[in-house]
Amino acid sequence: MQKKIVVGNLKMNPVSVVEFERYLDALEKELKGKEFEKTEIVVCPPVVFLQKLLNRDIKNIKAGVQDVFWEYQGAFTGQISAGMVKSAGATFAIVGHSERRKYFGENEEIINLKLKAILKNGLNAILCIGESAEERKKGQTSQVLKKQLKGCLAEIAPGKLEYISIAYEPIWAVGTDKIPTSDEILEAKIIIKKALAEMYFVKSAEKMRLLYGGSVKSNCAEQVCLDPAMDGVLVGRESLMPYEFVKIAILIDEN
Ligand code: PEP
Repeated sequence: MQKKIVVGNLKMNPVSVVEFERYLDALEKELKGKEFEKTEIVVCPPVVFLQKLLNRDIKNIKAGVQDVFWEYQGAFTGQISAGMVKSAGATFAIVGHSERRKYFGENEEIINLKLKAILKNGLNAILCIGESAEERKKGQTSQVLKKQLKGCLAEIAPGKLEYISIAYEPIWAVGTDKIPTSDEILEAKIIIKKALAEMYFVKSAEKMRLLYGGSVKSNCAEQVCLDPAMDGVLVGRESLMPYEFVKIAILIDEN
């Protein structure tokens, strides 16, 4: 049985090395003396701060990145490969986040290439999927989630599924303070599980953890994670506040 997982996506924050060091001080303080029996906690900072995080070697904290490029090396200005991330010592990579789809035009084909690179290099993937407000309004949620899963997971072997966590992040809930009801998350969970069962044997598909992401706070952890029995959460803004982030992790670990 896999552990639950709480992932912090710091996005393009904080704004300087000094502030990141302060963030790490606060995170270390909040975690002091706390044990997490059933939950992995992953922090994904901007890549320029990754080594700072790794050097601290904070108990119970694993390091991840927010994106990778799919090529191994070469003339790809500004890009960072999954192999580089792995060699630096990180163990997780987020892929397919809706902000990357929105601002950098990432589609399923690109996300699939990135996912393959992540797995080939021995990293764990947090694959984000989710429908927009308009798609939900038009009743297309199921169709959209299925299309994203099919495209992103194309040619991914069943043996690799245990290294993938799927984060259901309805786009309308990311950064908005709007959250779905437990029933809506449960419905999405069933759609995802069914789609995966069509693509793989259930036994293999069940190895993937299923997370919720979108405006997660400690006061809604029950609604978005515990009630619909998700395997964890992907946290954006609240992960920038160590007290709140650790509170979310404790709630999830204890329930
Ligand atoms: C995210 O970045 O994946 C996210 C869910 O952000 P927020 O928690 O701020 O909505």
